[in-house]
Amino acid sequence: MQIVVVGTGYVGLVSGTCFAACGHTVRCIDIDEKKVASLNSGHIPIYEPGLAEMVADGVEAGKLSFGTDLGSSIPDADFVFIAVGTPARAIDGYSDLTYLRAATDEIARHLTGRTLIVVKSTVPVGTCDEIEDRIRAVKPAADFDVAFNPEFMREGTAISDFLNPDRVILGGDREHVLGPLHQLYRATVPRDVPVQMVNRRTAELIKYTANAFLAMKVTFINEIAELCEKLDADVVDVAKGIGLDTRIGNKFLEAGPGFGGSCFPKDTNALVRLAQDAESPLRLIETTIDVNEIRKRQMAGKVIAMCGGDVRGKTIGLLGLTFKPNTDDMRESPALPIALALMDAGASVRAHDPEGVREAQRLMPDVEFADDPYALAHGCDAVVLVTHWQSFKDIDLGRLGALMAEKVLLDLRGVFAPEDLAEAGFASYSVGRPATS
Ligand code: NAD
Repeated sequence: MQIVVVGTGYVGLVSGTCFAACGHTVRCIDIDEKKVASLNSGHIPIYEPGLAEMVADGVEAGKLSFGTDLGSSIPDADFVFIAVGTPARAIDGYSDLTYLRAATDEIARHLTGRTLIVVKSTVPVGTCDEIEDRIRAVKPAADFDVAFNPEFMREGTAISDFLNPDRVILGGDREHVLGPLHQLYRATVPRDVPVQMVNRRTAELIKYTANAFLAMKVTFINEIAELCEKLDADVVDVAKGIGLDTRIGNKFLEAGPGFGGSCFPKDTNALVRLAQDAESPLRLIETTIDVNEIRKRQMAGKVIAMCGGDVRGKTIGLLGLTFKPNTDDMRESPALPIALALMDAGASVRAHDPEGVREAQRLMPDVEFADDPYALAHGCDAVVLVTHWQSFKDIDLGRLGALMAEKVLLDLRGVFAPEDLAEAGFASYSVGRPATS
């Protein structure tokens, strides 16, 4: 098959690379000339484990290529996947469809033979109808269809999520539309992966509903963690105790500093607005958003409390900055409001992250950056573990503490056993766990 992927970000690059690995000929298109030049020179602009090797293999096999030339790629394509960004509109939180509309108009101009346009970007219900109308307005006689195929990959495990997903959702309004897409996926994912075929609007809503439910689950356990701290109970055991119930499940029950990332915040906001406009408000999701916003800043309050109620003139080290491990993505990371709140309170903030520093330097110009956890800790009055990178589990707590001005550590992700922190002489705070001192 000839596949064109429009938008070479996390989703587009991973999808295109995986399709190429399955033997299809894939052309990945982006309007960002620097990104395309970088990909063409063998450099991957994002950090995603295993991706660089797979891209190199695809390019070497002649199956994967990159360009900015959407027009010349469209006529030969069997499938055109759209994976451009749909960020939250700054002014009102609605989904910003500017990139999607621009990509649609460009595709419409160049459509010739039979083409299936597959939207992978997360979009409000009804967007695929709009895309179809836009194309029809430009090319009334074109032989095309629009399908919606939401993507559920998680940054950090994106390749295995794409090639071995829990399910594939295909949304299309005419029966014959989904046949070729179904075949494409049957040859991409294991046979036992369920493929659910629904109408387009339902598929659009499935994606938002999945993200909203997960955001709510995380927020729920975060609130229970707060209650555990007040009642001297342990959220790790509570999560285990409820997670063993198969109706609840054990995933997404890790308490932390609040959800962030490129999807949950914008998708919950977009869904809430969609529901309000439909006069069917989603109170649970509205509350989830509010609770999560408060939680991020609340974490700074815990740091200040652990520093005796005042951080003026103190140096606080943030260990981990990205919204989760194994990505360089800083979008909506809890580290950002935590750092700002600490600086508002008069602290100097220093930070270390294995992959996120390049982007963090742009977003956090007043923060000082350290190359490793020990350089970070040097002279700090408190260290706050914000992101649970695997490498942090191996930190020598004795060595870390010896470098600090005050041995205070806040573990916002439950990486360290409270007993180990106590043994290393730290005054510590572990999210949702009984106080040790
Ligand atoms: P991204 O910001 O990393 O990448 C989007 C890319 O699209 C950018 O490189 C941009 O230059 C390019 N682009 C914009 N307009 C274009 C145009 N007209 N033509 C060609 N390229 C264009 O975004 P992402 O994180 O990959 O997300 C893409 C979509 O997938 C979003 O709707 C997102 O909600 C959804 N999604 C993301 C994830 C994730 O983990 N990142 C997971 C599931 C779904």
